[in-house]
Amino acid sequence: MEFNGKNVLVTGAASGIGAEISKNLASRGLKVWINYRSRPQEADDLKVEIEAQGGVAAVICFDVSDDKAFVEGIKTIIDSDGELSYLVNNAGITNDKLALRMKTEDFESVIKTNLVSAFVGCREALKVMSKKRFGSVVNISSIVAETGNVGQVNYTASKGGMLSMTKSFALEGSARGIRYNAITPGFIATEMTDKLSDEVKKGYTDKIPLKRFGSAQDIANAVAFLLSDEASYITGTTLKVNGGLYM
Ligand code: NDP
Repeated sequence: MEFNGKNVLVTGAASGIGAEISKNLASRGLKVWINYRSRPQEADDLKVEIEAQGGVAAVICFDVSDDKAFVEGIKTIIDSDGELSYLVNNAGITNDKLALRMKTEDFESVIKTNLVSAFVGCREALKVMSKKRFGSVVNISSIVAETGNVGQVNYTASKGGMLSMTKSFALEGSARGIRYNAITPGFIATEMTDKLSDEVKKGYTDKIPLKRFGSAQDIANAVAFLLSDEASYITGTTLKVNGGLYM
């Protein structure tokens, strides 16, 4: 795959899908800025692993739900390297409860971490990428944005908002050479899905046409494609990576 730009920022990159995206993009020649919130050791270990494979990486700590910190983080990258061509809004949380028991704060905190942070990232990307009239952003949403899910009115609202927001950013970014796309992963084997009981996991696996949970690599490969020049005619789309669970 061809990449015209040099630097990529991956949020929530110290674990799970974000870590795999970082390794994948570094292996394709991008300098990866590994954002983390509370896992300095994992972030450092990931940087070392990437460098051992001949890649280039830097670690950058900020909480994506703090908009000033996010803006400052992007400024740090520009001050250091003069450019940011790619952004992956991957950081995300769940706080599942049935709607009747969900406090307004439970709803707001998930919206803030998953959706407001992605807005701030997309907006700041628009500012810095406009200068070069080139850039590509991928937002990591979720299959449940498309299907709904019991116990996740907060999470589904945040991830559904990401999908429609991606389209609006795609329209605003198009004249400036910036593409915005989203991915809706199905069930992917990470810490987030480790929380599910074996019974629930088996129930989902039985329903997945490809009969397995996805891997973080499955998502990383889709991210790499959407960021790359091979996807230069693709913007405002949602790519489903879900083993056929929702078509
Ligand atoms: P993980 O919980 O393994 O990773 C999430 C990462 O986001 C963690 O490293 C976490 O860091 C980071 N993060 C959370 N809040 C913040 C914050 N405020 N600022 C900075 N970093 C933050 O989950 P996954 O790898 O599974 O999930 C990655 C993305 O994929 C998420 O957006 C998730 O919603 C989405 N997704 C996952 C699916 C799955 O099946 N696993 C399915 C569909 C979508 P920390 O621990 O320090 O908070």
